[in-house]
Amino acid sequence: MQAVVLEDIHKLSVQDVEMPECPADAILVKIEACAICATDVKVYRYGHKLIRPPRITGHELTGTIAEVGKELKGYQEGDRVAVAPAVPCGECYYCRRGLQTMCANLTAIGYHYDGGFAEYMVVPPRAVGNDCVNILPENVSFEDAALAEPLAAVLNCQEISRVNLGGTVVVIGGGPLGCLHAWIARAHGAAKIIMTELSPERLELSAIAEADVYINASQDDSVKRVLEETGGRAADVVIVSCSSGRAQEQAVGMVCAHGRVNFFGSLPKGNSTINLDSNLIHYKECFVAGTHGSAPRHNKLSLKLISKGITRVGNLITHRFRLAKFLDGIAVVEQGKGLKVIISPAKR
Ligand SMILES: [Zn+2]
Ligand SMILES: [Zn+2]
Repeated sequence: MQAVVLEDIHKLSVQDVEMPECPADAILVKIEACAICATDVKVYRYGHKLIRPPRITGHELTGTIAEVGKELKGYQEGDRVAVAPAVPCGECYYCRRGLQTMCANLTAIGYHYDGGFAEYMVVPPRAVGNDCVNILPENVSFEDAALAEPLAAVLNCQEISRVNLGGTVVVIGGGPLGCLHAWIARAHGAAKIIMTELSPERLELSAIAEADVYINASQDDSVKRVLEETGGRAADVVIVSCSSGRAQEQAVGMVCAHGRVNFFGSLPKGNSTINLDSNLIHYKECFVAGTHGSAPRHNKLSLKLISKGITRVGNLITHRFRLAKFLDGIAVVEQGKGLKVIISPAKR
């Protein structure tokens, strides 16, 4: 079969590899769509501490069941499925309390196991056993289902940082995740959504988020602008959906008393110390949290929201490529020329 194999940092190619075998307690999936994530670009550029090459990456994936392990019940060949890539252990302190994103033994498809930039992929037994395999609702397309994973991370964030009915939400970063944040904030009943973005190109693409106010952060002082837009009160929730320490520092200046700030994007390794005025937090009694990834239940909820038309994730797709053209796809993401890029391994 064809697959994208990461052999080393900056060494990524489409190759013919051996077809994987399906263990008795696993599922073999024929991949129909796998979206490229900004993390895939990071892995390609810098490597990842959890990936031991050679590895097939790709974690925003969906497909059709091609084979069900002999010992497994509840699934059938031909079932359309989306697989939540973060695989918790189900047994540790955090898993038992329903906080699977904090699992002490967390593993992930595309990192510890081969992922979805391939014609076929084995869903590992631990993923099957921990509720990571979801049958797609009939009206959800494969392309939309591939975006259930980034949406799940957004749901996790907004659950922790409680977007309120009638509130004002600032989203810093107009990438695909920023757009999802804007839509989900709206679904939670936010009355005013303010999006800030540095890149003019991204600013244009993020029009799709239908924020109420857009701030070009390369020209305007975004803290000052948010205060103006909120009559001096500042925002109820500020979500930092980009990888910038400066944006994290500014976020605390944009949030109101008792408001919530969420550091949704991680900072580059070795460069994650920021300069925060802690008195802002002290005197505003505000809450600064972070979130990363999602639990299996967030992925289920994602598919439900997509199926009910509450979030039209498909509108984020700007580019589509066959597996053989993967390098063209990753170039689009790397250069920030599009929002979501879908790879379709099933199409030759
Ligand atoms: Zn992702
Ligand atoms: Zn665990």
